[in-house]
Amino acid sequence: MTKPRVPSLETQPAVPDEERNANLLPRSTNGAHAFSLRVPDGDTHARHVCDDCGYIHYVNPKIVVGSVVTWHGADDGEIRYLMCRRAIEPRKGFWTLPAGYLENGETTEDGARREAHEEACADIRIDALLAVYSLAHISQVQLMYKATLLSPDIAVGEESLEVALFRKEDIPWDDLAFPSVRWALTQFQEVAETPVFAPFTNPAEMDGKPD
Ligand SMILES: [Zn+2]
Repeated sequence: MTKPRVPSLETQPAVPDEERNANLLPRSTNGAHAFSLRVPDGDTHARHVCDDCGYIHYVNPKIVVGSVVTWHGADDGEIRYLMCRRAIEPRKGFWTLPAGYLENGETTEDGARREAHEEACADIRIDALLAVYSLAHISQVQLMYKATLLSPDIAVGEESLEVALFRKEDIPWDDLAFPSVRWALTQFQEVAETPVFAPFTNPAEMDGKPD
């Protein structure tokens, strides 16, 4: 049996959906449900359905929340970009934006603020929704915000090896952890000085498929 793995940003274990999902199935209080995988009446997708009680275990996409966080108080007047070097797999050692899975009972803005605090000990202000990315191949939706760093006091959080405030020209483009990090940083440049704009979606280069 495959060990349950910790879900990770933009990757999923390379096991079939039904096997991965079987690790996540809830148990009834008086024992296990008797699940079988089948298409319920009137449905279009195969689900884990309990043969005893009819409970249907729906599995839906995960939501990731994060931010392009900028600091505007540098002595030279140049914008700095907050980035974190990942201390955990996948893509350990590569640079990313503060982002992670939304928790139950949490608003998307609170989730983005929490991630910035956890990964970079950063206090941020959410300014606008920058982009919504649909990563259908990994059943993930990402909400990326445009945010402002309220104080340059940042520190390495538990999931980071290093945190940094990069000038635009120093962003480590060749060492980014995920395609959507590049998308968000690139799209941010277009609206860096624009207070009101329409959120971006997947750039044409990908359109929800792996690159
Ligand atoms: Zn049951």
